Amino acid sequence: MNEQFDVVVIGGGPGGYAAALYATAADLSVAVVERDRVGGTCLHRGCIPAKELLETASVFRTVAGAGAFGVGVGDGAGKTTIDLATSMRRKQQVVDGLWKGLEGLLKRRQVHLYSGTGTLAGSGRVLVHDDAGEEVELDGAAVILASGSLPRTIPGFEIDESLVLSSDEFLTMQDLPVSAAVIGGGAIGCEFASLLADLGVQVTLLESLPKILPGCDEAVAEVVRRSFTKRGIDVRTGVKVAGHTPGEGGTTIALDGDETVWVERVVVSVGRRPLSESLGLDDTGVEVDERGFVKVDQTCRTTLDGVWAVGDLVATPQLAHVGFAEGITAVKDILGEHPLPVEYDKVPWCIYCHPEVAFVGHSEESARQAGHDVVTSTTHFRGNGRALIVGEADGLVKVVAERRPDGTAGRVLGVHMVGPWVTEQLGQGYLAVNWEATAEDLAALVQPHPTLSESFGEAAMALTGRGLHG
Ligand code: FAD
Repeated sequence: MNEQFDVVVIGGGPGGYAAALYATAADLSVAVVERDRVGGTCLHRGCIPAKELLETASVFRTVAGAGAFGVGVGDGAGKTTIDLATSMRRKQQVVDGLWKGLEGLLKRRQVHLYSGTGTLAGSGRVLVHDDAGEEVELDGAAVILASGSLPRTIPGFEIDESLVLSSDEFLTMQDLPVSAAVIGGGAIGCEFASLLADLGVQVTLLESLPKILPGCDEAVAEVVRRSFTKRGIDVRTGVKVAGHTPGEGGTTIALDGDETVWVERVVVSVGRRPLSESLGLDDTGVEVDERGFVKVDQTCRTTLDGVWAVGDLVATPQLAHVGFAEGITAVKDILGEHPLPVEYDKVPWCIYCHPEVAFVGHSEESARQAGHDVVTSTTHFRGNGRALIVGEADGLVKVVAERRPDGTAGRVLGVHMVGPWVTEQLGQGYLAVNWEATAEDLAALVQPHPTLSESFGEAAMALTGRGLHG
């Protein structure tokens, strides 16, 4: 007799574990099949280790800049140094602590964890193959596919774990190179370039599009580009890499045209591809598009009745919190609660490079492209007391609002931030966009003083035509 569950989830990353926890909170019986470790990419090879190492870079920056505050380190004579083995150990402790916590939580919530590779054997049937060659069959009234994604590669830059790295190898690096090229100027590429540069590596950032951080508002991307350049990162946009020739202690990257770049190490950061092939979907009725994403409707239903798909496996923003939201949406749909679809154009985005970037909703350009008449307001952190106190005055807050027929600012369409701790400040902007607040609604709110968040309040006030400091 097969084991029976209300919900069987394949994949224990953010999409899968959020679905499992939400389902048990609604008193459904749940099994999760995971072939590696619960927590997925996010916990073991993504968000958490990357942000932990970025924090190391931030501490390094703070220590290196302590002299400006009159604070000496040691005898004040030495250079700031990094012991990468200690940093990596600390990163692993954070990851392992969260991993144990998640395993314990799943157990306490009575989620049945099956170790092995899960494949779909038709509507409501999942086969689990473990490392010992054993096979178990699970019956689920509903099945949620959440197998996630893998790093993309580019031809001519095969990952070899020493010279050419993907994010997986980058996050377990045992030593720092003197120089490195990061291929890809998206969120993860910018985080890696920033991290390496802070730790003293000579970095070349190669991006084929005309600007780095292509999804961001122009003004925000420009602040990051300027800051990177000031910190010695060689930012090259509109360049295509043609291949590389390994040599003594490094490799020569050929760019389109005759240009070359010599570096000790290459980090390929050109996005991630869905991992649908691990699920045995051929002939099951679950359709997959030409890029490998599982096709779903607005509530994450696949083309096979009784089967949902969430997270990086589907063609939506590849973010852990989008995976959480989709896992919850799928479970609500399974419960017959007619959930509202996730509003993908209004999810928060945070990038943890230095300076940090955070945004939600339309950029000025995308709002205009969508046909909105817009009015914008920008406040710079150099006029913010707290920013000067912490010594991080580079950056801005830009609010994009709909222009009313009388010319005044109406509904807030987007909030874009770059600068100190903006990833922790986006909350107000997120609520403003998602609760469809107007500029007047926001201008009436009181911001504590002195805080970085005053810049957001000031930008909103200026939109009403009555800014205090502009
Ligand atoms: P995954 O996390 O990939 O989990 C899928 C799980 O399924 C894995 O554990 C895998 O072992 C398992 N699996 C696969 N196939 C099978 C099978 N057949 N049977 C059983 N198990 C299977 N997102 C953010 O929101 N914020 C960030 O700051 C951020 N930073 C990132 C930094 C880096 C370097 C990277 C690489 C990613 C980052 N992301 C970030 C993206 C985030 O990690 C992903 O969006 C998220 O992990 C996707 O969750 P998921 O559950 O869909 O897939």
